Amino acid sequence: MPEMFSGVDNTMLICSECIEQGHKILMSRPKARTLNSDELSVETLPTPQKIKDFLDLYVIGQEEAKRFLSVAVYNHYKRVLQEITNDDVEIEKSNILLVGSTGTGKTLLARTIAKMLKVPFAIGDATSLTQAGYVGEDVETLLVRLLQDANYDVNKAQRGIVFIDEIDKIARKSENMSITRDVSGEGVQQSLLKMLEGSIVNVPPQGGRKHPDQELIHVDTKNILFICGGAFDGIEKKIAQRMHTQVIGFNAQQETEHVDKEHLLQYIAPQDLKSYGLIPEIIGRLPVLTYLEPLDRKALRSILTEPKNALTKQYQKLLSMDNVNLLFDDNALDYIVDKAIEYKLGARGLRGLMETVMADLMFELPNKKQMGTRQVFTVTKEYAREKLERADYVRLKNAV
Ligand code: ADP
Repeated sequence: MPEMFSGVDNTMLICSECIEQGHKILMSRPKARTLNSDELSVETLPTPQKIKDFLDLYVIGQEEAKRFLSVAVYNHYKRVLQEITNDDVEIEKSNILLVGSTGTGKTLLARTIAKMLKVPFAIGDATSLTQAGYVGEDVETLLVRLLQDANYDVNKAQRGIVFIDEIDKIARKSENMSITRDVSGEGVQQSLLKMLEGSIVNVPPQGGRKHPDQELIHVDTKNILFICGGAFDGIEKKIAQRMHTQVIGFNAQQETEHVDKEHLLQYIAPQDLKSYGLIPEIIGRLPVLTYLEPLDRKALRSILTEPKNALTKQYQKLLSMDNVNLLFDDNALDYIVDKAIEYKLGARGLRGLMETVMADLMFELPNKKQMGTRQVFTVTKEYAREKLERADYVRLKNAV
C-alpha cells in the first residue's frame, strides 16, 4: 500500500510510488553540468576561434601553439561540461606540453587562457619539486596554490588550470640510466604522473609538509587541466637524428627537401621527448604537444606596443593619471628592441629596459602636475639612449 504525502501547497496528495517514479525520470535525464552559475556552461563555452582571438589580444605570434591550445582547452572544458549520456564514449583528458625557449610566451599563454575562462590558475616549477620524502616541495604544493587562487572553493579548484614550468629539467639524464640512481628526475616524474592522469590528492591546506594529525583537503585532479612547459635545450639534435634515421632508405630524396633545418622544433614528436629523458607514461599524459617559436625583432617590437596590456600602454596609463600625455617615437622603441637583442634579453628583458628608460620620468613628471593643463612628453631615441647608456648592463641582465 503506497504511503500518501501532501504536495507543496497542501491542496493535493502524492503517493510514494509516484514520487519514486518521478525521481527515476528526473535522474535519468541528461544534465548539463555548469562550472559555476556565473561561469562556463556548454552554451557559453567559447569556441576555439574565440579562444584564439582572445589569445591574440595578449600574445604576439605563436600561431601554431595558439591553435593547438585553443582546441585542447575547448575539448577539455567540453569534456568537463559534457552531458551525462549513456553512450559510453568517454572523452579523454588532454593535458598540454608547450616546448619553446624561455621567454617566448609559454606562461603567458597558459595565464591568458585561465583569465579568459575565469578559472583558478596556479604556476609551479618542476625543478622545485621532489619525490615524496625528499627535501623540497611535494607535487601537492601545485594544488595548494590552485586552492588558494580558488579561495579554497574545492569544486572551483578542481576545474582550474595548473601550469608546470621547466618540465624538461626533470628529464632523466640518460635514456638508459637505472631508476634507482636518478632520484630527482624519474622519481619526480613518477609523482607527477598520478596527478596528471587524474587522482584524488590529499592536500595540506596551508601548503608545506604534511604531518600526521593535520586535516587534509581532498582534491580530485580529473578535471584539472595541466599545461606543462619547457625549453628542452638541445632537443633539435634529437629531432634531427630521428628525422635523419627516418628518411634513410625511404624516399630519402623527397623527404629531406621539405625539412626546414633552421626551425626543427616544428617537427617535434613524442619520440624526441623520450630521447630527451621524459618517461613514456608522462609523455602519454601530455597528448597535446606543440611548440613556440623564438621571438624575432619584429615580434619583440610588436610586444612593446600591440598587446592589450603592452608595456608602452601601461606607462601611458600610469602617467595619464598625472595629467601627462606620454608618446614614444618609433625609433626610440626600435632602439630598445635593438638593445634587447644585443644583450640577449629576449621578451622578458624588454620590461627591464623600459623601466630603466622610464625611471627618471616616473619620478619627475608627477611633480610638474598642474591643475587643468596636460603636459606632453615624448620619449625620443636620444632620451632612451642616454638613459640606457648610463645603466649598468649587468644590472639589466640580472633584472630578467
Ligand atoms: P616563458 O614561460 O616562455 O619562459 P613568459 O610567458 O613568462 O615566457 O614570458 C615572459 C614575458 O615576456 C611575458 O610576461 C610577456 O611580457 C613577454 N612575452 C613573451 N612572449 C610573448 C609573446 N609571444 N607575446 C607577448 N608578450 C610576450
